[in-house]
Amino acid sequence: MHDKDADERDAAWVAEQHPGATDAVLSCAMCFTQICFVCQRHVRFPDQFRARAVVHCRTLEHEKYVFGPRGLLVPAPDGPVPPPDALRLVVCAPCGSRVGVVDADGDYHLFGVLASF
Ligand SMILES: [Zn+2]
Repeated sequence: MHDKDADERDAAWVAEQHPGATDAVLSCAMCFTQICFVCQRHVRFPDQFRARAVVHCRTLEHEKYVFGPRGLLVPAPDGPVPPPDALRLVVCAPCGSRVGVVDADGDYHLFGVLASF
């Protein structure tokens, strides 16, 4: 059903790995620190971006979240073993505001940030 879309996303994802190919430069919405230079814009949510690397950010290893209904972030359920799809919170290092999450594969999902095109 969606194989063609998936192929196109994968192709864009591969292209994005090459320096110089980016959908936007992302900055913290609170302090304007630049946090990402190579990212891919979400196909359905224009204010969400995916990236393999960020700068000037900190990952909060102990704050785990999962995507709930409608793509909203909800705290991961308590338990001895975190769910395999748990996301860790990523904050801007200078000001500490939330800029996104990083998943178990090391992919960053950034939102609520300023994008320059
Ligand atoms: Zn900031």
